[in-house]
Amino acid sequence: MVDTGVASTDPPPQVHARQARSRLAGRLVVITGAARGIGAALAKRLAADGARTIACDIASSPEHDMDGVEYRRLDVTADEDWRRLVADLRDQGNDVDGVVASAGVTWRARLGEVEGADLARVYAVNVGGTLLAIQHLSPLMQAGGSIVAIGSAAGLTGHYPLAYTASKWALRGLAKAASLELGPAGIRVNVVHPGFIETEMTASAPAAFRAANVAETPLGRTGSTEEVSSVVSFLLSDEASFVTGAEIPVDGGLTSHGGVKSISDALSRPT
Ligand code: NAD
Repeated sequence: MVDTGVASTDPPPQVHARQARSRLAGRLVVITGAARGIGAALAKRLAADGARTIACDIASSPEHDMDGVEYRRLDVTADEDWRRLVADLRDQGNDVDGVVASAGVTWRARLGEVEGADLARVYAVNVGGTLLAIQHLSPLMQAGGSIVAIGSAAGLTGHYPLAYTASKWALRGLAKAASLELGPAGIRVNVVHPGFIETEMTASAPAAFRAANVAETPLGRTGSTEEVSSVVSFLLSDEASFVTGAEIPVDGGLTSHGGVKSISDALSRPT
């Protein structure tokens, strides 16, 4: 057996700086949940990649500087907000080239504590909001269009926050069905599943949650919003032109090992 002597990996150097900055030039991308966190980082990244980026969120203003991004208040669960956005885009004569459904809420209640109302509230945003995004915006898309839903490692596992986990599994089904429906029109639908990413959402989690996540992550660290953004940018671009119905974990390997990392770690310690 080879001892690599490597306990964990450091974040990579600025790989993003090496990537093509014009891969989304001339595209119009709508992204939800973009006032902060992964959505805000995504909006900035897509704008830097050349897209006209419309960042939407239920918050009336973004929490960060959003230079180069158009910001719009939109509740993903509100049909009338989507209708207004579509009407404005049609008035301007715009097609939509990309959609990113990143708006999401979590609820860290376990099986014995979770209530039906919690499930409904989390579903309404994570699943219902994504459905409305696809229903309203896909008619404005042409062949070559791309939709990316932000799932979660919770959607690939039996993660303990039941309502959240169930919603992210449902999101996978929604995206798969949409990829079948929209494929003949040349519109792709994919899901990106982040692991533990440093955002305001995860900042609210207990310290034990972070430590347990890192312990189960082969790369031995948490991820950054930029590391999610680069994969989404790829999926929105023509570089991913034959990729649809796919699911890509961006999780440092968290969901890849089926729970055997703790076994491997335990046996690698001197006894
Ligand atoms: P976040 O809480 O920092 O940001 C979520 C954004 O969604 C907020 O700006 C919020 O205002 C917005 N939002 C909530 N309800 C909305 C609504 N009804 N309409 C419009 N916007 C609404 O969270 P984040 O960590 O950036 O998560 C973004 C996405 O990534 C979510 O779908 C989340 O489930 C997923 N995710 C995050 C992580 C992580 O570690 N951060 C891991 C897995 C998946």
